[in-house]
Amino acid sequence: MGSINHHQSTARHTRVSGLNAPIIVIGAGICGASTAIWLQRHGHEVVLIDKGTPGKGASYGNAGLLAHWAVDPVTSPTLWKDSAKFLLDPNGPLFIKWSHIPRLLPWLVKFMSNATDANTRRIVSNLDPLLYDTVAQHKSLVADTALSKWIVDSKFSYAYPSEAAFNNDAYSWKMKASVGLKPTIITGSAVQDEEPILGTSIQCLAVLEGQGHITDPGQYVIELCRHFTDHGGKFVQSEVLDINRKNGRVSSVVTRDQTFDCSHTVVTAGIWSKDLMKKLGITIPLETERGYHVMFENPSEVPRNPMIMTAGKFGVNPMVAGLRCAGTVELADHHAGPSKGPIKLLKKQASIAFPNLEYSGIQEWMGFRPTPPDSTPLIGEIGSTGIFTGFGHQHIGLSSGPKTGRLIAQLIDRQNPNIDMTPYSPERFA
Ligand SMILES: Cc1cc2nc3c(=O)[nH]c(=O)nc-3n(C[C@H](O)[C@H](O)[C@H](O)COP(=O)(O)OP(=O)(O)OC[C@H]3O[C@@H](n4cnc5c(N)ncnc54)[C@H](O)[C@@H]3O)c2cc1C
Repeated sequence: MGSINHHQSTARHTRVSGLNAPIIVIGAGICGASTAIWLQRHGHEVVLIDKGTPGKGASYGNAGLLAHWAVDPVTSPTLWKDSAKFLLDPNGPLFIKWSHIPRLLPWLVKFMSNATDANTRRIVSNLDPLLYDTVAQHKSLVADTALSKWIVDSKFSYAYPSEAAFNNDAYSWKMKASVGLKPTIITGSAVQDEEPILGTSIQCLAVLEGQGHITDPGQYVIELCRHFTDHGGKFVQSEVLDINRKNGRVSSVVTRDQTFDCSHTVVTAGIWSKDLMKKLGITIPLETERGYHVMFENPSEVPRNPMIMTAGKFGVNPMVAGLRCAGTVELADHHAGPSKGPIKLLKKQASIAFPNLEYSGIQEWMGFRPTPPDSTPLIGEIGSTGIFTGFGHQHIGLSSGPKTGRLIAQLIDRQNPNIDMTPYSPERFA
């Protein structure tokens, strides 16, 4: 891939003893790429391993939104009412593969048990430190590089069919207000003055200032990895099969092609982290909220700023390659292929919201949001094993990936991060 150096060795086992061995980061999505760069900046020798090319997991096709406003989790107290409504509504944004329910049930029970006011407030206070400075964290990650071109400052709007629909969202806005997010409300024809692409089905915008977005998340991650290898990092394309321990500490990482000694390893493999944890004998309740995108190529018009269409629960982002509409939630297995329903819904809702939109073609995509039941990413060390986790970022991984990488580098160097890391402990489900 491009100018990324693929580190290959004819030896089946790359031996370097103890703490002189490199740190191995497993998974080159936004979390892994950010972690590799921050560890490199801390002066470490780092090997980044991915089973494919970088940035092709969830980090490829997300909505590209730097989303402090996503601080309130899906499991708000309104989820009980909303999920029943969405499942009965053929135009609802929630899908379930019913055959997956028996395996999903233990996670689902834990997930739904978080849909209370007290738990929502706790999760908001867990997520806010990872999200409040998302735009600044991305800028800091790419400071003094050409990559800053992918990060755009913008406003961000919630688009509602009516002011009454905005008022119905009062709980969510109360949570956002608790972390300082207060919108300006625009109604009636002023909506189309603000965003001329919108049809009359949208009658209310809740506009937030000071937000940001990425204009090609997949390419952004590829270039982050290229930046890492250009500065001496090694990228290896191979599937990690196992993590070995000696005397209670990580000793090596086994890939399909060879074994690498390491001083520490960081698991940033998105939803697939669950499979790697299982190899270590650790069961993490991690399931995927599958999401989809449609990308309208050569669109005749685009919004001035990104938005979320609350009726279909999808983000809209004017990107380099077209107009991306990304969202929906489908509860299904991460080994199963895509469904048709969510794509059909995205196309239908987009045609209602943007009645005059013309385009030359459509790209379709499905990806896996890695979601723990308490919607709080797992960032920390497993005991004193030298094995660190950086996964479980559900709907907010693009936004919080750079901060995650920075925190992991600080933890490995035994520097005290300036936030309480207890809520993110990977051992909290033990
Ligand atoms: C439709 C949709 C819209 C979204 N919109 C947004 C948004 O607007 N803003 C936002 O902040 N977040 C958004 N998200 C969430 C975000 O995309 C994810 O949280 C984030 O990309 C997760 O990043 P990651 O690095 O943890 O995982 P991934 O990007 O999935 O990367 C994991 C990597 O690990 C590799 N890997 C897995 N197993 C192995 C193995 N055994 N050996 C080697 N490599 C392995 C994979 O190949 C992959 O490259 C959205 C998600 C979806 C699906």
